[in-house]
Amino acid sequence: MAVRNGDLAEKWYEYVYRDRGESVRQFVENYPDDRSLSVSCDRFGHDYRFVRPLLANPDEALRAGKAALSRFLSTETDRELQDVYLRISDLPAESEVALADLRATHLNCLHTTRGVVADAGPLQPKVVRAAFRCAKCEAVTRHVPQRGREFRGNAKCPRCNSVGYLSFEPEASEYVDAQEVQVRDPSSSEKVPVLLEHDLTGTVSDGDELRLVGIPRASRTDGSAVADMWVESVSMECLTDSNR
Ligand SMILES: [Zn+2]
Repeated sequence: MAVRNGDLAEKWYEYVYRDRGESVRQFVENYPDDRSLSVSCDRFGHDYRFVRPLLANPDEALRAGKAALSRFLSTETDRELQDVYLRISDLPAESEVALADLRATHLNCLHTTRGVVADAGPLQPKVVRAAFRCAKCEAVTRHVPQRGREFRGNAKCPRCNSVGYLSFEPEASEYVDAQEVQVRDPSSSEKVPVLLEHDLTGTVSDGDELRLVGIPRASRTDGSAVADMWVESVSMECLTDSNR
């Protein structure tokens, strides 16, 4: 990618945060009670040097967007904002793909798709910030943000540098609600699981039609090179009239 991360963070600040500084400051202050910030892609205008990396490498672009938020932290706090949800909507038309047409080439890129809720699963707690206790320091020494479905562990204690003494500490970790929803392509029987988190959970019912911005991911099960596709949601809009 030709655009450096620092440049991306600068563009986030310039396009998204600067001219609504007060409300962003408020959001950062309320975090983690507020974790979701809506961002219309219209704000980026036609700057392809921003939109292209956003579509092709959303993980890096979102990381830069969260890093840029730290400018609004007051100096006394050292909170990280890497588990904020930047709910990007209104992507350019080139990002659209039919759910049934999702293939390997779409993995880990940002896409818009439509679907019908076939099965809204139960709400379950999901770790967003995993705490790790060091057996040598006898203290929680590390917090690791958790995105998507795969649990990210950590081997090295930042305090004593020991490797292999960290263990997950469930009670000291932070959780949000998560919900896996089976979404069907509107014109076929193809279904893809979509992971909803935090404010997106509990908002849809079976039969609802959705417009979804998300990142298709592949999860491999043990021993197999063939993976299952699922979609990490970035933003969601229910197109079904709620007054039915
Ligand atoms: Zn330690």
